[in-house]
Amino acid sequence: ADEARLVFDTFTDRTTGLFHPTLRLGVTGLSRAGKTVFITALVHNLLHGGRLPLFEAQAGGRILRSFLEEQPDDAVPRFQYEEHIRTILEDRLWPNSTRAISELRLTIEYESGSGWGRMFSGGRLSIDIVDYPGEWLLDLPLLEKDFAIFSAESLERARLPSRRHLAREYLDLVDSVDLEAPADETTAVALSRAFAAYLQSCRTDSAALSTLPPGRFLMPGDLEGSPALTFAPLPVEPGRTYPKGSLAAHLARRYEAYKTVVVKPFFRDHFARLDRQILLVDVMQAINAGPEAVRDLETALADILGCFRPGRSTWLGSFLTRRIDRILVAATKADHLHRDSHRRLEGIVRRLLDDAIARAKFSGARTDVLALAAVRATREASVQDGGETLPVIVGTPAEGETIGEETFDGRTETAIFPGDLPADPARLFVDGAEPDPMRFVRFKPPRLERDAAGLTLSLPHIRLDRALQFLVGDRLS
Ligand code: GDP
Repeated sequence: ADEARLVFDTFTDRTTGLFHPTLRLGVTGLSRAGKTVFITALVHNLLHGGRLPLFEAQAGGRILRSFLEEQPDDAVPRFQYEEHIRTILEDRLWPNSTRAISELRLTIEYESGSGWGRMFSGGRLSIDIVDYPGEWLLDLPLLEKDFAIFSAESLERARLPSRRHLAREYLDLVDSVDLEAPADETTAVALSRAFAAYLQSCRTDSAALSTLPPGRFLMPGDLEGSPALTFAPLPVEPGRTYPKGSLAAHLARRYEAYKTVVVKPFFRDHFARLDRQILLVDVMQAINAGPEAVRDLETALADILGCFRPGRSTWLGSFLTRRIDRILVAATKADHLHRDSHRRLEGIVRRLLDDAIARAKFSGARTDVLALAAVRATREASVQDGGETLPVIVGTPAEGETIGEETFDGRTETAIFPGDLPADPARLFVDGAEPDPMRFVRFKPPRLERDAAGLTLSLPHIRLDRALQFLVGDRLS
């Protein structure tokens, strides 16, 4: 029935699409990668005719009008664009990050670039932007794993030397419970809370790990506290049947429920309907946390990209009729680096994806890699240091940010030399070979900038226009 419904949905999407062309653009990335800022900046630049020289339709003056419209899905929260842009422009603060799925429809009326197209095309494209946590994509591999395998893998990871201290409370609790004792809710809650707390602690700046399923333990959306989220991995023996009503049997059942009522519906109802995808990656956070974080990010990206090309015989592959045809992987916050380093940043992302692409047997979709800043909070300069000229970035660090001994007050403009990314990305993956940590601080969002002609005020960015051109440009030609 699920599959029949999906085919029907796709059919109606497609047929209404004939009369009113639509493009469903997925925006994802792990938490704090920059999804909210990206969507807010993209929408603001389109609504207000921002400076987008590499976005052909806009540069060629062919966009007649862009506006927000009622989104097609009534049951999905709306992306809070107005609130987010107000926070950036009026409060000069960063907006609240993505916690769950949300959606926004932006419609563009345009003039076709070719005479032929001008005569026939309706000149209207609705872009349904779908924002969702990348953590949720990391759940797909769970569908192929039973509770025993999931538990064994999770426990093995929790016991790694680099993680053991973060997982202490959870591991102690696991050691103290009796798997065959009758299940009680207090124990189930304590276990799941301790396990979730351990996963959360792996996401802090100093650890910055990425591969931490189940995704809803990090980003519960509106499911926090529900039974399908109240479980934790247990040292159960593979193949053994635990007594009915025992703790092990109870949590195994909830794990299965998690897959059925949480994971599958997301992939079926939302993921499977996307046409294009941008995957945002905060590479710098991983680099600064060290080689383990970089390797872990590589694994997470491979798992995420694997979702876009599932095997035919898998659950997702069996009903995915609509194929994503373009994927952009973007390193965000490039304004934290001088332009000279952007190529290196892109090189690092390519290196991170090499393996993913090989493993996912990635073909069919056009894939591109880009370093961007959806909102550019800095400008570039150079300073003389001894006889040397150092490329620096200049911005206003947010209140409370620190570099070394210095704490910033949120009002003072400062020049910062962020450091050099290594020319050879391989160094970032090897313990002991990693470069010195980079100097990154959170900057305050910038003010609107006037374009060269002094006519429009827009949010400064780096390569947001290239991203737009890749993701939607061909649909406006
Ligand atoms: P999300 O969890 O993926 O929605 O992440 P956000 O979009 O909320 O971004 C997380 C944080 O990263 C923000 O609060 C900003 O501090 C920072 N950030 C995101 N994008 C940019 C950018 O383009 N430039 C700068 N300077 N900081 C950014």
